Amino acid sequence: MLIEKGYFADNMGQSIVLFGPPGAGKGTQADAIVGATGKPQVSTGDMLRAALAAGTPLGLEAKKYMEAGELVPDDVIIGLIEERMQQDDAGDGVLFDGFPRTVPQAEALAEIAEVSLVISIEVPDDEIVGRIVGRRMDPETGDIYHITFKPAPAEIAHRLIQRKDDNEEAVRTRLTAYHDQTSPLAKWYSEKGLLATVNGNQAMDDVGAEISAIIDA
Ligand code: ADP
Ligand code: ADP
Repeated sequence: MLIEKGYFADNMGQSIVLFGPPGAGKGTQADAIVGATGKPQVSTGDMLRAALAAGTPLGLEAKKYMEAGELVPDDVIIGLIEERMQQDDAGDGVLFDGFPRTVPQAEALAEIAEVSLVISIEVPDDEIVGRIVGRRMDPETGDIYHITFKPAPAEIAHRLIQRKDDNEEAVRTRLTAYHDQTSPLAKWYSEKGLLATVNGNQAMDDVGAEISAIIDA
């Protein structure tokens, strides 16, 4: 029985962080982790894009940072997470995707939720640009595709969109932000004994298998 084994049994109420550079494959791998653990995905990128699409003041404030590839200020992000974690479905812990991205965000998270595992998907910079520039999204399902590595079925190809920040210039800025502000968190979580690293520079299914092995251990 699922509840008797591995991660799920021991870590009810605790959250998982999916960590890695832009384009590492966090969104791609999230569905399987949600399926295996029952924890809902909390993606700050998706929340910000929803706020932007809805034209809320928060969305409008975040827009300029997102389009330039810079990080949205910590107070905005922490406010979003505090609100999200009060919803009923967050009670048994969640899967954070793209959060935390700075040390102040991680410190705020420690006050809000208990993190029991940080899965870091490692991909070298020279792989990232091609992944990001070729990324496409299905706005109806949220599914993520890639023009070369994961082509969409022909019948939905007409409706795919490319994110405005998925261009080479913004990716370079995002990678700089990652190295300067986000990657120090790997050491931070490693010192707490929470970090598990995964080789993200292999086929999607192989990345998924490494992640499953960590979750089931
Ligand atoms: P990716 O999946 O390519 O890494 P995201 O969808 O996670 O991109 O984020 C898109 C943009 O939203 C980021 O470049 C940044 O501007 C903003 N953003 C998302 N999450 C955060 C966060 N935790 N802190 C600051 N900015 C964020
Ligand atoms: P993130 O959420 O970390 O920004 P995504 O899951 O959106 O990353 O993946 C970025 C792009 O790279 C997408 O177009 C996706 O289809 C593709 N991708 C994801 N994982 C791999 C992989 N292991 N090999 C090749 N391409 C991948």
